[in-house]
Amino acid sequence: MQWAKPALAVAALWLSAVSAQAQDAPAQTLFTNVHIFDGVNEARIENAHVLVEGNLIKTVSTEAIDAPGATVIDGGGGTLMPGMIEGHAHVALNGPDIKVMTADMTWEELAIGSVGVLEMYLKEGFTTVRDMGGAGGGLRRARDAGQFVGPRFYPAGAFIGTVGGHGDFAFYSSLPGDPSNFTRLNMMAIVAGDAQMLTAARMNFRMGATHIKLMLTGGVASLYDPWQLMGMTVGEIEAAVEVAEAYGSYAGAHMYEKEAIMRGIRAGVKTCEHCFMFDGEVAALMEEKGAYMTTNLTAFSPLLAQTSMLADPRNQRKFASFSKAATGYFDMVNKYKPKRGFITDCGGPAPVCQQQVAYEKFLGGEFFGNFETLKSLTSTNGEIMALSGDFINPYPEGKLGVIEEGAYADILVVDGNPLEDLSVIGANSVWFEAEYRPDGVETIKVIMMDGEIIKNTLN
Ligand SMILES: [Zn+2]
Repeated sequence: MQWAKPALAVAALWLSAVSAQAQDAPAQTLFTNVHIFDGVNEARIENAHVLVEGNLIKTVSTEAIDAPGATVIDGGGGTLMPGMIEGHAHVALNGPDIKVMTADMTWEELAIGSVGVLEMYLKEGFTTVRDMGGAGGGLRRARDAGQFVGPRFYPAGAFIGTVGGHGDFAFYSSLPGDPSNFTRLNMMAIVAGDAQMLTAARMNFRMGATHIKLMLTGGVASLYDPWQLMGMTVGEIEAAVEVAEAYGSYAGAHMYEKEAIMRGIRAGVKTCEHCFMFDGEVAALMEEKGAYMTTNLTAFSPLLAQTSMLADPRNQRKFASFSKAATGYFDMVNKYKPKRGFITDCGGPAPVCQQQVAYEKFLGGEFFGNFETLKSLTSTNGEIMALSGDFINPYPEGKLGVIEEGAYADILVVDGNPLEDLSVIGANSVWFEAEYRPDGVETIKVIMMDGEIIKNTLN
């Protein structure tokens, strides 16, 4: 089978490092006989060749590339494209449901579950995952040290919220400051006021976060807050942004209501997570401030009401009222065309997340077309990863999400053309009925990450 065992993969990395030293030149891989989707342009580059040297793309050409000594991969006329990027997951929230996780789950269980989720993402063709709360820098350190083989990882650390807001998973009668299971595990931080915000944001960066995640408004899946809740003061948001910018990084925020979105982006928030009440005014402000929209389209699926997260009648009521309020979203996005990154907002164990990722891709194609979905999965999310800035971006050597010279060699070769059919990169028109695929997407023939072959069923 094609999957390298983690230990073998680590050994392979080490061996290639040794042989590279011996020959005094980094290893090269030459892809031939491919059509390139470069992450940016709708037209594929037909009959092209890509040379990878070390962990970066060295040459992209329609002419033959002379590279004696390179390992040659004949793409068989398939599509070569950037590795996909998940813009908003919660890999540490991988218990069976919130009740169980907030009762007594331990960091050992959640860490092992996180590894399973990240391994699943890589098998599905995702070479980068941004985590928007729960997982921290320790998981990234373990990944970057080769303790498991998973995608590049951008963690927000503990998500930061306020008492009674969307990020508050304490018990109903908990007093302010009472630790909950999530605060004990450093998966969430509850703050009141600018000073506590400064501390929480700085703690996250100290512990390896690459950006900050704020719970700025209420949500649908939480219990104590109306989704319309304006959960943070201007001062609190500005305090978080000030810390993030001191690290050369940024804050992203969970934002539903228009007024909250305007408040957040004015204060310097760079990624509008969910961003449901988007309109022309929001679009203008986002453009002025260089902010991005990231929306999980499964939020618009009536199937969402069946998830365990919304089992409580209070959540069901919120979902119904939210669905009514968010009907303008698609018209507004089609009209104003904000820069939009792909996200799933996925929590749960690996098989559950796999279903959601596949269904989110399908919905992207249905609502915005295949090209827009592919762009959101690659170059736009690559731009969002780069917002972490030069000081603390763990992967600053090249661009992510594009096929161009100098970019990271995070590459897929797909049997078929995803611009015509998203199912070749794993999109699925069913959600909960989808069958688990432990080996990932069959039509993704090659997965390369950082110049290393992770999967190759071509030759
Ligand atoms: Zn989320």
